[in-house]
Amino acid sequence: MHSTESPPMKAKQAEPELATAATISETELGQQTLLDSADLAVVGPLLKNCPTKTLAAGEVLVHAGRPNEHLYLVLSGRVSVRLASAETTPIAEIGAGESVAELSVIDGQPTSACVVAEEDTRVLGIDEELLWILVQSSHAIAGNLLFTLTRRLRVGNQVIFEGRERYEQYRFHATVDALTGLFNRHWLNSMLPRQMYRAHLCERPFCLLMIDIDYFKQYNDEHGHVAGDRALGAVAQALQTCLRPTDMAARYGGEEFIVLLVDCPEDAAKTVAERVRTTVASTKIAFAQGAELPSVTVSVGVAEMTETETLESFIASADAALYRAKETGRNRVST
Ligand code: GH3
Ligand code: MG
Ligand code: MG
Repeated sequence: MHSTESPPMKAKQAEPELATAATISETELGQQTLLDSADLAVVGPLLKNCPTKTLAAGEVLVHAGRPNEHLYLVLSGRVSVRLASAETTPIAEIGAGESVAELSVIDGQPTSACVVAEEDTRVLGIDEELLWILVQSSHAIAGNLLFTLTRRLRVGNQVIFEGRERYEQYRFHATVDALTGLFNRHWLNSMLPRQMYRAHLCERPFCLLMIDIDYFKQYNDEHGHVAGDRALGAVAQALQTCLRPTDMAARYGGEEFIVLLVDCPEDAAKTVAERVRTTVASTKIAFAQGAELPSVTVSVGVAEMTETETLESFIASADAALYRAKETGRNRVST
């Protein structure tokens, strides 16, 4: 994302306080990935005046969204990288021998992440000017920097990928009923008007089935709520077996379901409804430890969309048909 604002002023106060003129051992330098294979006799003196900083666990080295003047080599200890703030979950951990905050030093933009010490940590800061001197004085350092940046890119891609997966999961839960695995009411509210519009535009028949389990309160009372939940799951599964891949079933409310039969005239819808009714009635409901519960029956109302139908009138029409099925004895289909 590019900012339209002018480049940020490099603010001195945003930098952590660093002790200068620290003594860094050759062994410590030799362990740094950035300096791997570089001639320490040449590089060592260049780093002699670099500032170092000692951080206690929990201390913030780099704040997200602020200007940053140093790339840090982690001499000892461990830091974590967190997006947005120090309170968020780490996206990466960086231990001794690795570097952090390269990007903001190279492109001069505010940092995109926050760096926090996970334990007592000692770092060495390399500013922009020195970084370019190092890169120009050693091919090995240039290569190491490229390697580090590539790894950062991979981590970034992984974070994007995981974020995308999480988004898909949230979207799934927002449209699917947890108990039955059918679509939920929220999904129905957005899908039904779209399918009605499509049927109207293409001048194709479109039917709704409104399905309600018979005497379900009594079923719950007799066998318990857990058994009732099993029955709901079994009805949902039976429903799925009766439908074409293009038909869509949703849990409308407690023990009520709606099926969208696209491209389907009323006669064919009645056949499907009858199939749903008989399938549910013969579906065995498994319970704990191999026990079996009595089957349930459903009443089904069928409605075909008319020329002037609204969302409300279409559902009301299926509901009225369901009411007739209930009134005339239940376990039946009515139009
Ligand atoms: P009818 O034949 O007229 O439809 O009678 P009914 O008893 O099925 O209808 P009623 O509306 O009186 O009762 C519906 C029952 O469905 C009551 C409620 O406890 C039960 N129910 C609704 N949602 C759930 C659920 O998620 N799990 C369980 N176990 N029961 C549910
Ligand atoms: Mg009901
Ligand atoms: Mg009922």
